[in-house]
Amino acid sequence: MSADYVTFSKNVFIPVTNICRNKCHYCGFRRDAVHPEAFLMTPEQVDKVLRRGVFSGCTEALFTFGHPGHHDVIDYMAELCQMAIERGLLPHTNAGAVSYADLKKLKPLNVSMGLMVETIGWVEAHRDSPDKVPALRLKAIKDAGRLKIPFTTGILVGIGETWNDRIESLLAIKKLHAKYGHIQEVIIQNFLPKPNTPMAKHSPPTIRDMQQTIATAREILPQEITIQVPPNLMPPQLSIPYGASDLGGISTETVDHINPEREWPAVNELSAMGVSLKERLPIYPRFITAGWYSEEVGELVERYADENGFRNDE
Ligand code: SF4
Repeated sequence: MSADYVTFSKNVFIPVTNICRNKCHYCGFRRDAVHPEAFLMTPEQVDKVLRRGVFSGCTEALFTFGHPGHHDVIDYMAELCQMAIERGLLPHTNAGAVSYADLKKLKPLNVSMGLMVETIGWVEAHRDSPDKVPALRLKAIKDAGRLKIPFTTGILVGIGETWNDRIESLLAIKKLHAKYGHIQEVIIQNFLPKPNTPMAKHSPPTIRDMQQTIATAREILPQEITIQVPPNLMPPQLSIPYGASDLGGISTETVDHINPEREWPAVNELSAMGVSLKERLPIYPRFITAGWYSEEVGELVERYADENGFRNDE
């Protein structure tokens, strides 16, 4: 059955660096530090994107850091989050499988954070990725729960995992949520082959496979956890009837840097498909009600939220 409405947030996507010590076989984004296309965005570059986001009515600054492998990266992340707050955007950082101490440092400067489980099974695609050890990722998600950080996680579909791996991954998320209550959404993301990667010729999952996975996730996870399927990776009219009810961050200002060939559908195009849309913040309404946000972001949350915790009209 489809949801009554489908949520989304308006964000700017800021991939702070593409330097990553992992080598996931499906990834077309990462570069070695010495590669001519390697980058680490400067504060000035980040500031420009933030200002464009504020100007175009976004509420979320989505930061991704990957796994550059430097210790001082957490301090830099904190600095950029602080800058986003000062400009008027609510940070949501995907910091990788970082430690409890690092999560604790970032928590007051983020309204929510994220880390994909991807899969808890062993897959060849992660053979050269030390940070893709499932236990490390589950530990980081657990630590986020201990710290009461509203959290986004999810699974990657079609990277060589078995059907049983998918179920076990979803059950692991369910178990963590049962203990800490911090999972706000679970992303079901389809693998898409990227040129010049070891999996360039690997077939993506079929629509039917995705629909079965979405429906299974909807069955396994409690209703308060929203299922998100990025609309630029799978048409929403094909995911919503199976249980997807969130489209994630829709960016009018920045491209999806991880999947640059896939454009975001404009919000009005989605409305034209008959999908009733509701804008939310990067922190879901029930965590606003429960006060799971810090003083540092409090003023902005209250500025942007309506009485039900969705985006107000102002
Ligand atoms: S998918 Fe993420 S962790 Fe894996 S290589 Fe790419 S940037 Fe690194």
